[in-house]
Amino acid sequence: MLRRKFVAPCLSFVLALLAALVPALAQAPPSPAEKSAPAKHIAIRAGHLIDGKSAKVLDNVLILIDGDKINSVTPSGTVPAGVETIDLSKSTVLPGFIDLHTHVLLNGDITAEDYDQQLLKESIPYRAILGARNALIALDHGFTTIRDLETEGAMYADVDVKQAIANGEVPGPRMQVATRAMTPTGMYPLLGYSWELKVPTGVQYVDGLDGARKAVREQVMYGADWIKYYSDRRYHFEPDGVLHSMVNFTDEEAKAIVDEAHRLGKKVAAHAIGSDGIAAALRAGVDTIEHGDGLTEALMDEMAKKGTVWVPTVMVGAYVAPGRGGNWTKMVESEKVAFEKALKRNVKIAFGTDVGGSDWRDIGQAREFQYYVDYGMSPMEAIQTATSRAAEVLGWSDKLGTVEAGKWADIVAVSGDPLKDIAELQRVRFVMKAGVVYKNEIGSR
Ligand SMILES: [Zn+2]
Repeated sequence: MLRRKFVAPCLSFVLALLAALVPALAQAPPSPAEKSAPAKHIAIRAGHLIDGKSAKVLDNVLILIDGDKINSVTPSGTVPAGVETIDLSKSTVLPGFIDLHTHVLLNGDITAEDYDQQLLKESIPYRAILGARNALIALDHGFTTIRDLETEGAMYADVDVKQAIANGEVPGPRMQVATRAMTPTGMYPLLGYSWELKVPTGVQYVDGLDGARKAVREQVMYGADWIKYYSDRRYHFEPDGVLHSMVNFTDEEAKAIVDEAHRLGKKVAAHAIGSDGIAAALRAGVDTIEHGDGLTEALMDEMAKKGTVWVPTVMVGAYVAPGRGGNWTKMVESEKVAFEKALKRNVKIAFGTDVGGSDWRDIGQAREFQYYVDYGMSPMEAIQTATSRAAEVLGWSDKLGTVEAGKWADIVAVSGDPLKDIAELQRVRFVMKAGVVYKNEIGSR
């Protein structure tokens, strides 16, 4: 059943609401008039630049911005006359961060009750308003781009949040969205209610080869940039010590989803936690493995060979584990071991948090960096998972992910040195997206 679409209330009300919810955000998004104004020139003096690509930090850099793009990045240099200068000479400047696994339409689901309440008691318009708030929180934390990986029962409302941001109606990161995600019938909540009740489902139920292709076409028609499906459920450790799982789709169905998505020029993300689910997703030819707690060395080697990207989402796994009990704490430990091994086996790891599984107001997404460093990655590599590597996954390497001439001017800054203390990235103090400053607590102008 398709519900009524979210109708935006008046803009001033939305902005007042958003400003009240996130006081740090001082500036409104560019008005339509501003958007049509001639390109604005801005110069940034960066004390230190981590550009998202180089292994080295560059000192005393001048970044010139024309409108929404970076025009040049040079060692020091003179600012052309009449150009506004933002002085970040005492700060470390980085590319805007990219989170490849978010849920703007969800606000914490430690327990099944948390999840069911949102789907049963909150309308999709209400959830979309919270989605706009969550997008703003992401931006405030330095995430200028996100891949939102399914709406959890909120139909295509992610497309609406994305569009409202792209139109400059509300502030937020630029988005790629997956819309509804897929499982076969009965393999994803809401479950356990009387058969007499028609309750919403967190995904689109999809069965059979024709059903798989039709669902992909339908989601793409309504605005999906990515196709996401749930490869597995029921995670459990077996005597071999490996985290196993029950696979959802038949191989033929999963291959039909992936083939149809690729035929339409879209990539596929698979939720795959246990080794069986990961193996099935790799057989189907997906582009990214989400979570991946049960990765074995053989599966890692297969991923490295195929170039399949792993998006670990450690932050939310660790967040929900104590409240969920059961195997969840052991699964977090299993993922830590897998992460350490994957680093040695050249698996491509890209940054994703699964925020939304945690309440957006509880922990900032940059907490994920800390886990990667604690698990053996260098701080510079960890930063690159959320910049150049993540941009590659999105197919946007030519547009963002590094501070370089020709890229969108997505720039953040912190006061301290994130290579000495990665937690510094949890204290982002300057945020620019596409040449517009959304937060500035440090740079005098
Ligand atoms: Zn997720």
